[in-house]
Amino acid sequence: MDPSYLTQSVHAGREDLTDLGVHAPPLDYSSTYPIRDLEQGIASIDAFIEGEPRAQNPIYSRLFNPTVDRWERAVAQLEGAQAGCVAFSSGMAGSTAVLMALRVLSANDGAPRNHVVAVRPLYGGTDHLLASGLMGLEVTWAEADEIAKAIRKDTGLIWIETPANPTLHVVDIAAVSKAAADVPVIVDNTFSTPILQRPIEHGAALVLHSATKFLGGHGDVLAGVVACKDERWAAALRQVRIVTGGVLHPQAAWLLHRSLQTLSLRVQQAQNNAKELVAWLRSREEVLKVFYPDDCQVAKRQMDGPGALLALEVKGGHEAAARVMAKVKLCTPAVSLGSTDTLIQHPAGLTHRLVEESAREKLGITENLLRISVGIENPADIISDLEQALTP
Ligand SMILES: *Cc1c(COP(=O)(O)O)cnc(C)c1O
Repeated sequence: MDPSYLTQSVHAGREDLTDLGVHAPPLDYSSTYPIRDLEQGIASIDAFIEGEPRAQNPIYSRLFNPTVDRWERAVAQLEGAQAGCVAFSSGMAGSTAVLMALRVLSANDGAPRNHVVAVRPLYGGTDHLLASGLMGLEVTWAEADEIAKAIRKDTGLIWIETPANPTLHVVDIAAVSKAAADVPVIVDNTFSTPILQRPIEHGAALVLHSATKFLGGHGDVLAGVVACKDERWAAALRQVRIVTGGVLHPQAAWLLHRSLQTLSLRVQQAQNNAKELVAWLRSREEVLKVFYPDDCQVAKRQMDGPGALLALEVKGGHEAAARVMAKVKLCTPAVSLGSTDTLIQHPAGLTHRLVEESAREKLGITENLLRISVGIENPADIISDLEQALTP
């Protein structure tokens, strides 16, 4: 891990606090903002409609909120996103807005962009959003090394997730970006966080986070954020957010900004624990296979560490996997990830239930697969809990 992120995590988005005479960021709950000068109000509305990040008058909290804006700026700094971040009420609201923004961009320059190329595996909800046709887009599923072949004249976006949920499949961001040429690449960076991976450095145009996970980090906030390299994308996402309304609540943004201060520490400790747990799991006869990107050349090139997520295949199929979830005492048997506590779940039955069954099998999302999001507890305690849970 790059130690400069220890400082950035703590200070991002707080640069003006001392001059404001406060130590904690102000939390602004206003849903509406007084408009004494109508002409200024009109100019402000016009700026927001154009997708500007801010205006003289915030007007209404669906258009702008200073607490949300402050957290967006902090995440943009960590991701190296020159055009800023756009926050949403959940990761899925962010993903949906990205697909809708394709329409805005198509309309702006009269070139249809109704085709998306995506690499599986993806988070189950994202997979379903793309596969269901709900967004009126055509999707081609491609292998990461066949992106160039899959691109058409109307391709508007390449969607990848690395390491991917739930099998920790790694995709080479630089290679995909090169193959994509002018077509923007979005990387779901939820598993790594900017502490371990900054996709824009490797050629991505957009970075998506389910901020519900590591960025929130304590299992008490639902949020999404899209970091943008290109101003046109940031503007289109803000335009979509204004009219569809999937905004982040200011209190959620405030909690997320509070959590950001410990992001580096949490990721570092959880990753150290994951490494210990992986070594132990690999020695167990109840475990057939462990998925963890610690020995992957591409991961070593684009990541500052393998992270805190792992998956394992247990002996004994669905029944054995279900038994582990029933028996854990310290670890929490629950979906979601990136929390301070260790979470364990069954992707085929839960997070990836919406993925077509044939695709699930091909991707290795099998009935005996469990995914673990390693927490920041004492690693010996996690291991001893899993030891008793794995013992038939
Ligand atoms: C959870 C998750 C999402 C969806 O985010 P929500 O905040 O639950 O809407 C997207 N991508 C990945 C990798 C996730 O783990």
